[in-house]
Amino acid sequence: EQIPPIDFRAQLNDEQFAAVTAEPGPLLVLAGAGSGKTRTLTYRVAYLLSRGVKPGEILLLTFTNKAAKEMLHRVQDLTGIEPQRFWGGTFHSLGHRALRIYGDAIGLPKNFTILDADESESLLKQAVEHEDKLFFKDKTNPRPGPLFDVLSLARNTQQPLADTVAKNFPQYTEIAHRFPAFATAYATRKREQNVVDYDDLLEFWLELLIKAPEVAQYFAHRFRHVLVDEYQDTNTLQAQIVDRLAAHHCVMAVGDDAQCIYSWRGANFENIMTFPDRHPGTAIHRIETNYRSTPEILNFANGVLLAQPKGRHFDKELRAARGHAQKPFVVQAMDDREQAEFILKRIRALVEDEGVSLNEVAILYRSHFLALEVQLALSRAGVPYQITSGVKFFERQHIRDLVALLRFVYNGADTQAWQRIAVLLPKIGEKGAQKIYAAAVDHARLTQKNLLDVLNTDDVRSKVAKDARDDWASFCASLSEVAEKMQHARPADAVATAIEGWYGDYLKGQYADYLDRLDELKALVGFAQRFEETQDFLAQIVLLNSETSDRHVDPEAEAVRLTTVHQAKGLEYDVVFVIGLADGQFPGRRSIESGDVEEERRLFYVAVTRARNELYLSYPKVATRGGPGGMLLTPSRFLLEVPTDLYEPLRIKRSYGW
Ligand code: ATP
Ligand code: MG
Repeated sequence: EQIPPIDFRAQLNDEQFAAVTAEPGPLLVLAGAGSGKTRTLTYRVAYLLSRGVKPGEILLLTFTNKAAKEMLHRVQDLTGIEPQRFWGGTFHSLGHRALRIYGDAIGLPKNFTILDADESESLLKQAVEHEDKLFFKDKTNPRPGPLFDVLSLARNTQQPLADTVAKNFPQYTEIAHRFPAFATAYATRKREQNVVDYDDLLEFWLELLIKAPEVAQYFAHRFRHVLVDEYQDTNTLQAQIVDRLAAHHCVMAVGDDAQCIYSWRGANFENIMTFPDRHPGTAIHRIETNYRSTPEILNFANGVLLAQPKGRHFDKELRAARGHAQKPFVVQAMDDREQAEFILKRIRALVEDEGVSLNEVAILYRSHFLALEVQLALSRAGVPYQITSGVKFFERQHIRDLVALLRFVYNGADTQAWQRIAVLLPKIGEKGAQKIYAAAVDHARLTQKNLLDVLNTDDVRSKVAKDARDDWASFCASLSEVAEKMQHARPADAVATAIEGWYGDYLKGQYADYLDRLDELKALVGFAQRFEETQDFLAQIVLLNSETSDRHVDPEAEAVRLTTVHQAKGLEYDVVFVIGLADGQFPGRRSIESGDVEEERRLFYVAVTRARNELYLSYPKVATRGGPGGMLLTPSRFLLEVPTDLYEPLRIKRSYGW
């Protein structure tokens, strides 16, 4: 392959150069954040090409779509070779490609279709109901969504269902003995319908490599070089696939065990620790120089890892290649609002005084709800921002559901709001919702009563399916309670009441990440507190939405980046704000209760190592009422564990700017 000449010596340091030009054989590149792991992998591809390896002989794997794009893009910049000419992408996308071509070797017809998450859940629901018609009727049993998550985690970790439940979903222990039968019924249905779900793309790929020797041999023959970035986040299935593919032993795994942050999806950083055992003769390369961050930011990052328990990780100490600058700042704000105001002022100063581009500013948080006040402050000030991952706060499903419920209670003529909320009830579709509404309006007119007061009368109830009437009754009762609060209390009380009532129960059954969503709803209570009148509260939400929603993701746009730490993996910015660094926010309350905060510590490490030049770490002293964690907050234990000489406290000057 003709590629432009590259001066590997000049563009890499000695450690990187050694890894890039290593003899064929298993390679493990183990290095801290920002040390050029992705760069090393990219140059290794270029090096192989320069030695006569063909693009078609190289398999490039990584974890997220974003990372895959970035990796292939960097290879193209360096070599001029277009991404399509490699087999490169995420594990799932390449599994799909393999199964399309060779799936029939394990009895998978070529024309299989892939179910999305909703379709998978609904097929699982059918399968379970076929086994036990009443299973989902029992409110204490998991809904299809959470049940799907349990089965999925067991598959990705290749663990028996019983173990998965005991370890990760103790709330289902009593019912867990029934799960294996459900899993089988679900698998049978998929096979009958010639469909696969997302996890099958990995499972069947592995099966193909185990059970179809001719295909396995073909793969082995074709892909003489297998390279994997972000290896620390592979789960058991993915690691086994890599092991099988690496028949020539020319496999390069690149990763940082201190950045393993996906164990909730089955990632297991033991994979990286045991890689040398599974690939005898592995040459381990360490890179200890960091090119990304200032020495002060790096010292702080090293300080974060100091408090890690010993023995569970490879020791690493990063050295900075860059010159000295200021220490990271730690900022204590009164509450979320002051934290947001501080960030806004600081961003303005950065742009005006230091000429920083908005694109180079990132605000990172552990969970979405922590960023609500920041979104509000930026919107009000007209500072453009992008939420790189996820959806803006007021556009999230459950926030919109709850706002629709409040709008309907406030204004019974709002049929848009009615339609949105009514179809959440079991057995009520769009048509049904219209019929019920019409019946209620008629009845209200006839009896001269309020719409809410007639919803649960016989006339209207008769339009609701018999076996859905329990839900209906609790729905109606909840609406009345909310209405009561709207009349006699403040908007925030009405919101809190709505969450405690029917909608809260609905949410619990609907989503496995129920607790995260509940936190977000509670943040809405906090937002409502600034209003005296329901009218103003609801109007403000609509206004904020219309202002922000058309500013959707244009990757080139000048805009501040808001993102969860998970989605910022592998990326870098000049200025990074990490917000919500209070105990209960980061680390989150649930990990504190579970007694294991190590994954969250690694997450914090990932967060601080995204910064090139400036790092601000902030926390509110008082939680907004309704928010998680109670009233008074303490600084994150991760902050307290870092030696105090590694950062500088920054005082917010009140009322005169800071
Ligand atoms: P992460 O752990 O966050 O994924 P990484 O180890 O993959 O980080 P890279 O993203 O490859 O690190 O590199 C970090 C930054 O340092 C990039 O901007 C990269 O271009 C730069 N860099 C790495 N090595 C060198 C080098 N030898 N000379 C100059 N710049 C370098
Ligand atoms: Mg990287």
